[in-house]
Amino acid sequence: MNVPNIPLAGVIGRPIGHSKSPRLHSHWLQRYGVPGHYIPMDVATNDLAHVLSVLPKAGFRGVNVTIPHKEAVLDIADVISDRASLIGAANTLTFQSDGKLHADNTDGVGFIANLRQNAPGWDATAGPALVLGAGGAARAIVAALLHERVPQILLANRTRARADALKAHFGGKVEVVDWNNVSSRLGDATTLINTTSLGMTGKEELKLPLDNLRTSTLVTDLVYTPLTTPLLTAAAAKGCPTVDGLGMLLHQAAPGFERWFGHTPEVDEALRKVMLR
Ligand code: NAP
Repeated sequence: MNVPNIPLAGVIGRPIGHSKSPRLHSHWLQRYGVPGHYIPMDVATNDLAHVLSVLPKAGFRGVNVTIPHKEAVLDIADVISDRASLIGAANTLTFQSDGKLHADNTDGVGFIANLRQNAPGWDATAGPALVLGAGGAARAIVAALLHERVPQILLANRTRARADALKAHFGGKVEVVDWNNVSSRLGDATTLINTTSLGMTGKEELKLPLDNLRTSTLVTDLVYTPLTTPLLTAAAAKGCPTVDGLGMLLHQAAPGFERWFGHTPEVDEALRKVMLR
């Protein structure tokens, strides 16, 4: 008797209880009738290499990786995609049939797919993007914007040295703007992106007067709890198009699902509703 091969995938991090990925993948598994499972796994940094060596033997096709392992997995992977290498972190690992561990970073493509879906007229080449923040997420956003041929990136971060480091890494199209000087440069931007954790439930608000912002500038926030951040509320009140950060979370998950479970999943209103429950 043939035993059916149940595909497995999951997410590795520490802590992992807050992760929304199991709910997202479980929805898709059910929706497409895939007889697989997606499992959250709390893994210590010291155990990371061992766990990743064992999982394929237990039927795992791949895993997502979250804090604090996104950088460390690059030292363990056998094959690293160009974008993961450029960003310096991975969020999607695949156990290849040749036994090699493939590391990719889908945050940037998730970010772009979200804008394409929810602001169809948006064009990265139309003008400079102003990026707030220079943490892990900002690296993926800057890489994605450059890939989309944005003409210039104005980058502002509370800790200037981190913004300077991103400029040194990504090169001439990045101009570092002083954190205290952001509002005076708002008028230059055709896209404004918050990649800081400011505005998140339980964190400080992003205090940025939007007087100089053009009403045609697309404003998006990576923070998705709350879904409509104070930044998005203020931008919408000014008449700017806005896109929330939930779509990025959903779109960044799609390439992994497709690789591990063999279906191209849809990001639609039904999925958003499931995630907002
Ligand atoms: P991170 O590496 O810890 O970076 C945090 C960023 O926020 C840094 O730029 C930091 O500035 C800034 N920041 C924190 N507190 C601040 C404050 N009080 N004043 C000014 N700046 C402050 O985190 P991350 O991984 O980049 O994530 C950033 C946010 O994006 C989080 O809210 C995360 O949930 C969200 N995110 C969303 C998605 C999605 O799919 N929608 C994906 C990834 C991340 P300093 O350098 O000065 O500390």
